[in-house]
Amino acid sequence: MQRRILIVEDNGVNRNLVRVLLQKYGYQIIEATDGEEAVEVAVREKPDLILMDIQLPRMSGYSATGILKGRRDTMDIPIIALTAKAMIGDREKALKAGCDGYISKPIDTRELPKVVNSLLDRERPRGGDG
Ligand code: MN
Repeated sequence: MQRRILIVEDNGVNRNLVRVLLQKYGYQIIEATDGEEAVEVAVREKPDLILMDIQLPRMSGYSATGILKGRRDTMDIPIIALTAKAMIGDREKALKAGCDGYISKPIDTRELPKVVNSLLDRERPRGGDG
């Protein structure tokens, strides 16, 4: 079964880079370009994983992550934060918002698929205690 990944990124060049990279690994890609669209698409499509830019129009990646992690129907979707600079504190903010992983830009094209794969592999069947 082909895994679907939602890429949330307002920068078209970065979005294309990540899409082409992940398509090479066999993932199906869906996209959103701002924080509000990210929430809408994630709720509707239930992707297997989300790559979430932090600096986004309309709603930040932190806020979008907070909303998705607060909803029962999307809380189990792994979210990897993408931030422009490895600023001190960004990792903590991303994790506090509920992100499951963190990658700093510019994107390391070998690191990204590894982080994606490891988070998808971590998925396991869940019991009824949701
Ligand atoms: Mn951005």
